[in-house]
Amino acid sequence: MGFCFSDRVPLIFERSRPGRRGTPAPARAADPAELFGEANLRERPPALPEVDELTALRHYTNLSRRQVGVDTTFYPLGSCTMKYNPRVLEAAARLFADLHPYQDEASLQGALFLMHELGEYLKALTGMDAITLQPAAGAHGELTGMLVVRAYHADRGELEQRRVVLVPDSAHGSNPATSAMAGFEVREVPSDADGEVDLEALKRELGDHVAAIMLTNPNTLGLFERRILSLTEAAHAAGVQLYYDGANLNAIMGWARPGDMGFDVVHLNLHKTFATPHGGGGPGAGPVAVKAHLAPYLPVPLVEKTPAGYRLDFQRPKSIGRVRSFFGNFGVLVKAYAYIRLLGREGLKRAAALSVLNARYLKELLKRRGYRVPYDGPTMHEFVAQPPEGLRALDVAKALLDEGFHPPTIYFPLIVKEAMMIEPTETEAKETLEAFAEALGRIARRGQEDPDWLHGAPYTTPVRRLDEVRANRRPVLRWRPD
Ligand SMILES: *Cc1c(COP(=O)(O)O)cnc(C)c1O
Repeated sequence: MGFCFSDRVPLIFERSRPGRRGTPAPARAADPAELFGEANLRERPPALPEVDELTALRHYTNLSRRQVGVDTTFYPLGSCTMKYNPRVLEAAARLFADLHPYQDEASLQGALFLMHELGEYLKALTGMDAITLQPAAGAHGELTGMLVVRAYHADRGELEQRRVVLVPDSAHGSNPATSAMAGFEVREVPSDADGEVDLEALKRELGDHVAAIMLTNPNTLGLFERRILSLTEAAHAAGVQLYYDGANLNAIMGWARPGDMGFDVVHLNLHKTFATPHGGGGPGAGPVAVKAHLAPYLPVPLVEKTPAGYRLDFQRPKSIGRVRSFFGNFGVLVKAYAYIRLLGREGLKRAAALSVLNARYLKELLKRRGYRVPYDGPTMHEFVAQPPEGLRALDVAKALLDEGFHPPTIYFPLIVKEAMMIEPTETEAKETLEAFAEALGRIARRGQEDPDWLHGAPYTTPVRRLDEVRANRRPVLRWRPD
């Protein structure tokens, strides 16, 4: 075990040779001193690798071939919705590549139209009254939403007393984190034996010291909260705001709406549900939609439709201010808009139905192969399984790499031991799900016969099993020349 450097790829810095160049840059570049000011220029040139274009191309292409990704294999990473997104949507995003955010409103009418229309679609899908498209990620949307809730209570003179945010123990880790960042005290609510929020325990916590409840439905076990209406009613009766973590809207879009369930705020992850991949640190978008009473606090500017055209409304005195420069990650918004137009109302409903069907089918296939599903309730777009008795989720995940699959999310949610959180997504074919189940079946059988084999996996990947403790404690984040 430990790091295996046997066929380590040299870093691009190690391929550097003084004076090597790629295609020459155009000579007409402006004078940097004039552009940035003499005082802002660096004293020495940056230590960039000096390589020719072919070396750079081969370097990155070869690196990409050592990866497992949605373009090469099934990627059932629970909660992340690693589905296939049609390439035509990337082309749609490129149509806007020449726009500049400093252009005046009159010349940005197409972009403003798109943002307005996208906002209308997302409001209709969530059952909300107003929306901001500014936040750049799901967690960023959560923080924005909680700051809006905070501004609302402050405006009513109740912030002093309403200090607590209730979060179920099955929640996504970003929920307690963003509540705390927004200045609240987080209190955990237990799940019941069915894996849903323990309603009685939650009711006992309610009161005028509570600012909000953050919930996701379906929850992180992939289960639809069947008592959601009693829950939101009880919360509202206590003056508590309801926050819906809508990162996984692909489970319900077109079928059920957070607004109808009684929620006041919801964020969406366009980079999961709406045609931009999640993960890898790429740009995302986490729009926040609210009911009318919270609209005054949304970030500025909001896109407004007037008889004379679209404009940006900055005149919102109660706004929490900006949360992101310019208009957020605009390319992601374009892809979401195009995706919604491509699928239409029926297509979106069908995508949600397929995400659920795929999860339920795969769950049944795994149960027949010895995998356990401790909370086997109304599974939506994902489910949480456990390996057969005696096997560890980490080992099974590593062995899946040898089978050519990306592993599921493991050890989350925390309330399930040896959790394997599996989200097949709506875009996978039946044959793929069956092949994945077969692979898990083989791993279980061989792992039970030969535990050492399983502990040693993976065997065929460019990098063998990592020393995760060392990787976390002593991460190597910089390259230094010897
Ligand atoms: C992915 C996810 C988030 C966070 O989204 P990021 O864009 O990664 O910040 C929040 N809640 C849930 C339930 C999620 O699945």
